Amino acid sequence: KKSVIAIDGPAGAGKSTIAKMAAKKLNYIYIDTGAMYRGVAWLVLQKYQVPVNTAQVLSVIEDINVRLAYDDNGNMLIFVNEQDVSTAIRTPEVTALVSQVAAISEVRQKMVELQRKMAQDGSVLMDGRDIGTCVLPNADLKIYLTASADERANRRAKEMREKGYDVDVEEIKKDIIARDEADMQREVSPLKKADDAILLDTTKMTIDEVLQEIIRLANA
Ligand code: C5P
Repeated sequence: KKSVIAIDGPAGAGKSTIAKMAAKKLNYIYIDTGAMYRGVAWLVLQKYQVPVNTAQVLSVIEDINVRLAYDDNGNMLIFVNEQDVSTAIRTPEVTALVSQVAAISEVRQKMVELQRKMAQDGSVLMDGRDIGTCVLPNADLKIYLTASADERANRRAKEMREKGYDVDVEEIKKDIIARDEADMQREVSPLKKADDAILLDTTKMTIDEVLQEIIRLANA
């Protein structure tokens, strides 16, 4: 059985939904690294108004404390400076800022160090953008999860509507494409499929089919 699993891919590919379910099935610890970058962006917004500059972000990460925890149902919670921000990191304001914050190398150094520590005992499934290429290059299984931009936008819109947000699919698609471009073009650890990652295009797959495939690969 693969003990360290890395799942990367663009925004809205269903990484967190699938990764969370797969981790539950495998009885692994699930680490959502996007939530960590969102936590940094959330704290920046607590202290500064947009537009923010790099110096402001650097001042915020100087003494930030990011901690993950799990509730009784195994859902991941994230605490920033001991405040539970699991819901607060999902707002459009945080989403709009996060890629800018995640492009700063000092921010990444700090998060990557934490992520590697969390993975050192194995039985982990970590998702993000640079897990297979940078954080855990020796992972036992690497998956690159993707889908067409239209499909990703539709899925994200559905998810937001279920949470009670009134959203426009075209707006979401624009946001997703802009975030992908920022994530693929940044200098430090850009979003990229690792050479040894298995490409899984989920455009025409159901959640259950993707889940079954990942479990199969994990047990292979
Ligand atoms: O996965 P999620 O959409 O929550 O990630 C939010 C943002 O965090 C991404 O758009 C990206 O800018 C950043 N990120 C990253 N590296 C990771 C995970 C997320 O740069 N490993």
